[in-house]
Amino acid sequence: MVNLLDFDEAAMSAFFAERGQRPFHARQALRWIHHGLVDSVDAMTDLAKATRAALASEVEIRAPSVVRDTTAADGTRKWLLDVGGANAIEAVYIPEDDRGTLCVSSQAGCALDCAFCSTGKQGFNRNLSAGEIIGQLWHANRALVADGVAAPWIAQGRHPITNVVMMGMGEPLANFESVVTAMRIMLDDNGYGLSRRRVTLSTSGLVPSIDRLRNECPVALAVSLHAANDALRDVLVPINRKYPLRELLDACLRYIERAPRDFVTFEYVMLDGVNDSPHQALELTALVRDVPCKLNLIPFNPFPGTEFRTSSRSRILAFQHALQDAGLVATIRKTRGEDIDAACGQLAGQVQDRTKRRWQRIHSIVTPT
Ligand code: SAH
Ligand code: SF4
Repeated sequence: MVNLLDFDEAAMSAFFAERGQRPFHARQALRWIHHGLVDSVDAMTDLAKATRAALASEVEIRAPSVVRDTTAADGTRKWLLDVGGANAIEAVYIPEDDRGTLCVSSQAGCALDCAFCSTGKQGFNRNLSAGEIIGQLWHANRALVADGVAAPWIAQGRHPITNVVMMGMGEPLANFESVVTAMRIMLDDNGYGLSRRRVTLSTSGLVPSIDRLRNECPVALAVSLHAANDALRDVLVPINRKYPLRELLDACLRYIERAPRDFVTFEYVMLDGVNDSPHQALELTALVRDVPCKLNLIPFNPFPGTEFRTSSRSRILAFQHALQDAGLVATIRKTRGEDIDAACGQLAGQVQDRTKRRWQRIHSIVTPT
């Protein structure tokens, strides 16, 4: 079966053209799926009955299935989604007064192995398809509508999700084709119709792919900096050994020429005693001086087995003030959903973890030590 969630407008038109259908019908289908959030061709009532019957025999509209659906005390909601082969991914809904944000995963696991990241510790399993990526948005909107979630913009006929951040599991630029296909559907007026400013991609700094994104699908960009010199960043974010800071900052400058916003967001995870000293704040100020940017300080979210600790509130505030005194815009990211392990860097696809634990248990029984 062909999954229609995999198709952006170009792919849908090609698929329809091969079956003698006009591009107009492909756009109608996109609209039914992503505006109307339908899950069957039968529901596409403005396509001819014969067309629907022919399509139904070879296509499906299928998002990854839900393994677990948890809601935190603060309303943050996390879906654990099965993508087959013992792999699971997570999508997180973050409700706020003026928006509904979905944090979307791009890979099962991640190969880049940043020292402080739970996803990285899991290793890389595989890239998600475009359908598995856009399927997270499709599913979240459907689930929230079905549950009758209320917000002023929903009353006006818009979807519950108004903003997407590609900040879930995985490095989105390491799965470029599928991520860009999914983002095109997010931006398409026949898709979700989100403005480029409301779709943010976060990267650990794959320089050539930042340039490619600039040319092919510029959206709001967040860059995971986490250290102000190469020696420390080499250890915290190992991809820095391949694309060091100067090259990364130059790519950011090039990106801003085409970006929907006139700045880049730098993310900086606050690790106690590692990157949070007053001296390091000054070093960071000097580093980003020439780049139009906003800094987003992320209190480190611990996970089992990590050796890092979160910087104290007073240390984070002192760091923020040092940046602000130097004229930079620096905010502290509010931690959301930590009681359900839904905060930044805590997503780890726990079906697989459970499977691993089970294997370890079985192993310890059959090979007693
Ligand atoms: N792979 C991409 C996007 C996913 S992570 C990237 O690295 O940018 C989104 C953000 O959460 C990144 O800035 C990442 O460095 C940060 N992060 C990872 N682990 C974290 C943790 N344990 N606590 C807080 N932030 C973390
Ligand atoms: Fe991968 Fe991002 Fe985690 Fe680094 S922080 S291991 S790039 S998901």
